[in-house]
Amino acid sequence: MSPIRSISLLLMLVLSSQLSAAETLTIYSERKEHLTKPVFEAYTKKTGVKLISMTDTAAALTERLKGEGNKSPADILLTVDAGNLWNAARLGLLLPLKSPALEGAVPPRLRDAEGRWFALSQRARTIVYNPSKVKPAEIQSYENLASPHFQKRLCLRSSKKVYNQSMVALMIAEKGEARVEKTVRGWVQNLAAPVFSDDSNVIEAVAAGQCDVGIVNSYYYGRLLQKNPKLSAKLYWPASGVHVNISGAGVLKTSRQAAAAQKFLEWLASPEAQTLFSEGNYEYPVNPTVKPSAFVEAWGTFEAWPIPVAKAGELQEAAIKLMDRAGYL
Ligand code: FE
Repeated sequence: MSPIRSISLLLMLVLSSQLSAAETLTIYSERKEHLTKPVFEAYTKKTGVKLISMTDTAAALTERLKGEGNKSPADILLTVDAGNLWNAARLGLLLPLKSPALEGAVPPRLRDAEGRWFALSQRARTIVYNPSKVKPAEIQSYENLASPHFQKRLCLRSSKKVYNQSMVALMIAEKGEARVEKTVRGWVQNLAAPVFSDDSNVIEAVAAGQCDVGIVNSYYYGRLLQKNPKLSAKLYWPASGVHVNISGAGVLKTSRQAAAAQKFLEWLASPEAQTLFSEGNYEYPVNPTVKPSAFVEAWGTFEAWPIPVAKAGELQEAAIKLMDRAGYL
């Protein structure tokens, strides 16, 4: 082989390896694979970009990213809970993005002010009740579940779950610690049963009459309702506002394909992907031009608390301490 030919062959090899690297994005994902698979496949079909995902908890993925440093193969971190994304940003893992597409598709309340992460779906945490035991007008608000009216009638999931930590964190942001502590103490006094390890168990307990009201993410309700359309539980949306958490993502600072990773996030926030991304788990789109599915819409409409979800990260530690003081296990 002539030297020129072998050099050009080498060049081709280098180019093609770079090309194939640019066509694969690696996603560290906290979302269940059966939910992300159809979305990822749609993107690959549209663009040819392959998506590899590694699934674990946000805590484990964050630890992994810290350990891997510059050698990390990951391009994107995809998690649930605003607190997890806030924490990854605080650790300096996420790249600030300037993206008119993402800024246009994701309301400011649902993204990092510096563009390090963006919500991709909304997860409403609201009140579930048994319609044969409670009239909706009695419920009113999360705070009202602490009133003596609901003595021994409330079921809650454990305070160890990040969903409750973020909810209490945003309540603190809205109402201040003293008032929220009083509410949480009232909840604990009103418990009809020891705290549950899962939102589905809370809904099942409400439907079975073990308790009359509970606080849950609406997609768990969707899953149970799908299995049993006669489920004896309904969702209540407080007029004073509903706690909304998110799933979301950011591009990693160590990604060598940040532009391609950003393009993928822009697509995820676009109307085309938003339906697919939110419907799989009965969640709500973040893009205001996209409606939730008819199945989800039938549960009613709501106003989310206006506080930026990033506050859930900032105040999570305070929320954990408050719940501990209030005896919420
Ligand atoms: Fe969940």
